[in-house]
Amino acid sequence: MDLSGKSTPLSVFLLGEGQSSLASRKEMIVGGKRATLRLFDAHCHLQDPRISALAPHVIQSAVEAGVVRFAVNGVSEKDWHIVKQMGEQYSSVIPCFGLHPWYVMERSPLWLQSMKVLFATTPFAAVGEIGLDKGSHGKNIDFSEQVDVFQQQLLLAKELERPISIHCVRAFGEILQIIQRNGPFTSGVILHSFMGSAEMVPEFIKLGCYFSFSGFLTSMKSNKAKKILKSVPIDRILFESDAPDALPKCCPDFSLLYTLDSTMLHGHQHVIGSADIDFNQQRKVLNHPANIQIVLKYVATLLEISEEELAEASYRNTMQLFSFPGSKVIGEI
Ligand SMILES: [Zn+2]
Repeated sequence: MDLSGKSTPLSVFLLGEGQSSLASRKEMIVGGKRATLRLFDAHCHLQDPRISALAPHVIQSAVEAGVVRFAVNGVSEKDWHIVKQMGEQYSSVIPCFGLHPWYVMERSPLWLQSMKVLFATTPFAAVGEIGLDKGSHGKNIDFSEQVDVFQQQLLLAKELERPISIHCVRAFGEILQIIQRNGPFTSGVILHSFMGSAEMVPEFIKLGCYFSFSGFLTSMKSNKAKKILKSVPIDRILFESDAPDALPKCCPDFSLLYTLDSTMLHGHQHVIGSADIDFNQQRKVLNHPANIQIVLKYVATLLEISEEELAEASYRNTMQLFSFPGSKVIGEI
């Protein structure tokens, strides 16, 4: 279903204050089938300044919807302390520390040292978001600096035996070579928001990689998305929101989309019927971790397997991956 031709403003469809009471929302969510599916958000940014003030509401509403764990990825020295705090405050949050390729030029001379201190004081933390980017944003950032910072973090992850969340835009060849050269990474590697080629999947599997799918997959041509998905064994599939980004674009037969907007800062949450959304407006709308259920549904349809089977497998995969020594979730599966 392509709704991109619609032009009605999004605000028309936001539920009014009186209509979006917690009680009615709960009924819609908990009473429905989706509450029975347990999911792990393998990569998100609840510390992002656009939504950090909403984190308590976001976590509570996601948990009510069945998304019960969150790997919260830091991106620069500026947000690591918030990620650490969230990891300490919420049992459902796995904190991850990383220097994202977009922020490598802003790093301080002591960045690696600061990161090592954080890991020493946060034994339940993983590594991410790190990576390489040659896309429209990343191409303006010195690539050799990106590689240098990426490699140093990979080696730290290897030494600490922690899983790693990798961002890759148009640099899969380089990522593959660097992982090959510096590996093995026995604690696992997540290729986050994976949109790489199906042909490269077997090579990455040999290196212990997992493939995490986000709402971005829904903006790809479905036959291309299907080809990628079919190349990934079910025991390597993860789901993520990448919230507040990667709002799912569309998928067959989904009825509720969780969104975040500035009005939530005043304590309101909007649940919007998907059919009412103008996707030109939607680009400005922030994503919510509960929407990984929409991605799950889309992927299950393309793979022609049940949502239940896929939810269970992806939850198990993510739990296994994050069950490193010192982790909060160790021994839970
Ligand atoms: Zn991310």
